Amino acid sequence: MPTPDAVLRVALPLPLPRLFDYRVPAGGPPATDADVGRRMRVPFGPRELVGVVAAVGPADAGAPALREALVWLDDAPLLGGELLDSLHWLARYTHAALGEVLATALPAALRRGEPLPDTHTWAWRLTEAGATALPGLKAGGRPRRLAELLQAAARDEAGLDPLLDGWRAAARALAARGLAERIAIPASQLAPAPQPGPPLHAEQQAAVDAVRAGSGFAALLLDGVTGSGKTEVYLQAIADCLARGRQALVLVPEIGLTPQTLARFRARLGVPVHALHSGLNDTERARVWTAALRGEARVVVGTRSAVFVPLPDAGLIVVDEEHDGSYKQQDGIRYHARDFALVRGKALDVPVLLGSATPSLESLQNAVAGRYRHLRLSHRAGNAKPPAVRVLDVRKRPLDAGLSPELLTAIRAALDAGGQVLVFRNRRGYAPVLLCHDCGWSAHCPRCSTPEHSRPMTVHAGGRRLQCHHCGHRASAPPACPDCASLGLQPQGVGTERIEELLAARFADVPVLRIDRGSTRGKDALERIFTDLGTRPGILIGTQMLAKGHDLPNLTLVCVVGVDEGLFSADFRASEKLAQLLIQVAGRAGRADKPGLVLLQTHHPEHALLQTLIHGGYHAFAAEELVQREAAAFPPFAPLALLRAESPHAGPPMAFLHAARRVLAAQVQARTNDPKQPALWIDGPVAAPMPRRAGLYRAQLLLSASGRRDLHGVLDAALPEIHALPEARKTRWSLDVDPVDLY
Ligand code: ADP
Ligand code: ZN
Ligand code: ZN
Repeated sequence: MPTPDAVLRVALPLPLPRLFDYRVPAGGPPATDADVGRRMRVPFGPRELVGVVAAVGPADAGAPALREALVWLDDAPLLGGELLDSLHWLARYTHAALGEVLATALPAALRRGEPLPDTHTWAWRLTEAGATALPGLKAGGRPRRLAELLQAAARDEAGLDPLLDGWRAAARALAARGLAERIAIPASQLAPAPQPGPPLHAEQQAAVDAVRAGSGFAALLLDGVTGSGKTEVYLQAIADCLARGRQALVLVPEIGLTPQTLARFRARLGVPVHALHSGLNDTERARVWTAALRGEARVVVGTRSAVFVPLPDAGLIVVDEEHDGSYKQQDGIRYHARDFALVRGKALDVPVLLGSATPSLESLQNAVAGRYRHLRLSHRAGNAKPPAVRVLDVRKRPLDAGLSPELLTAIRAALDAGGQVLVFRNRRGYAPVLLCHDCGWSAHCPRCSTPEHSRPMTVHAGGRRLQCHHCGHRASAPPACPDCASLGLQPQGVGTERIEELLAARFADVPVLRIDRGSTRGKDALERIFTDLGTRPGILIGTQMLAKGHDLPNLTLVCVVGVDEGLFSADFRASEKLAQLLIQVAGRAGRADKPGLVLLQTHHPEHALLQTLIHGGYHAFAAEELVQREAAAFPPFAPLALLRAESPHAGPPMAFLHAARRVLAAQVQARTNDPKQPALWIDGPVAAPMPRRAGLYRAQLLLSASGRRDLHGVLDAALPEIHALPEARKTRWSLDVDPVDLY
């Protein structure tokens, strides 16, 4: 109830699970419920912080005198309605402080307290004087070229960027002479008329109809093989949503948001498409977020954090490649963007369409259990045929840079037929290990190794540099073995650089391009490589960066090498991830008229996972894997939470987790009626699978429950005590609900 002496309960970006009370700024009107969701600057100790008003209420009787908030930062709530409610849910689910969750949801510029940005689209046009003066401007000069571009119609600033380098200086020069002017225009004036797509095939049509048929919230799993036309289904569903006057949000994985994808959306939808991704600066991010808040952005296509955009007119949420690991935030607030999209869809009462050729086992199980509508696209669209998959048994075969003679022959044949080849090896660098052939010493990372557990450094630059792929530590390769002074140091194993070296020598007649995080910085660099290559015969070598993204219609051969190590990982999700990766990489072959071939080189041709995938496909694999997950009480059948701790010293993480275990065990006992059926299983503490990283010792405690109620009940009861443990101050610790990686 707002009363004249109501106080503001402010969520501050601090890891403390509480709100902080302030008096309203002096001289202003009393606080009311309408202030909830407004940002304000408040004093906090000697500092100032930016917080969000989470509630307004009467002051506690007898409470000490409160400090006065400094200043309101917004006239109207920034976080309101559904978004604020959903973020409250997220704070409860992740057991994180509301203030930190709200700070995570806001773009950095707004988090810092900057005012809402201008969301106008700015354009330039010639003045009448400019039109008259044009023929007299110096031919070929930038001002003249800009004037010519503006002659027929005004152009928006983003649209000028690709047309004329240095146009801004030219525009200023023209404006100074009164020949051109900058004008704000509604974004809707800019979009070209939508281009029609291909007529949908029957399964696509059924999927679009299913999205259309629902009124309100529905979760739909669009389970379609690679190249089956899932994107066409999204486009049609989005067009429907726009026709009903609603906004659409599309989430894509980090490497899926290519200029090619954006261009396709822009061409087809006939409204401006706002992209939100890590390549934007803080101002641009805040602008897209604000445009969504104001309802000006009708379609937002973005990566993980785009799940936090306000959607006052929401009509549809799409999550493309819903199985992708990049949807899970791995530090700070550990949210899962796909799962949070579903929560928002429910709160907004709009359909959520999850698409993938390799759905996560979580989503498949939800479909099996009837919680999601299961929509299948079982064949490729157009004339494209599924690629043929063959296993190449390389036992006892001579290997050159890890490649067998049969593989090299196949590459030659594909190139000679005019096709492109993708060689997939999920390890960048030259070689994974530098070994002394005389004494067995190997180069290891000083920041990630322990006496019992050494982490090799990856060899780069043909053997001259060493780099740790876990912490980034770099060193130059020693000229001789530090232990025995031998000069017999040898790179062991094969990374993408070494494959590139071999293929460039063998196939000197075609471009050989390596694509991995080492070679390719930034999306534009990647796109430029694809554009330069065009459809000419050539070879691409890469890591999982190549598993999706740019569509390559002339790609006819995919070679997968060095997946064997993934077949024997202890992580319970390893098989799922490997199966998804293999299917996705294989799916890049034969996307157009030309048939595709996938060669899988292995020392374990009889391995059950490979056999099941090749003969039964992803769904046969998934069905078997779900049976095993259920038997082992792993997700999606039993929810997990992981308590992690790390410290520069070996002792504190374990000490903290032992103490936390005692607190949790007491709560489990309090909630358990039948000792044979505890509410929660506590596993550990144990050293993390990677016991040291970047100089920090790491340990973990795994919690699993048969149901979420028990998991959250125990955590709710135990966490205040765990926060207060003296051991908690001696280590850095965090809780991860639904961890994706157990290390
Ligand atoms: P996915 O998203 O499932 O990988 P896309 O939507 O990108 O598939 O479609 C794959 C290719 O097939 C694209 O080149 C697309 O233009 C084409 N395509 C999609 N649907 C149809 C259709 N109904 N008829 C003809 N071609 C189609
Ligand atoms: Zn040696
Ligand atoms: Zn390291």
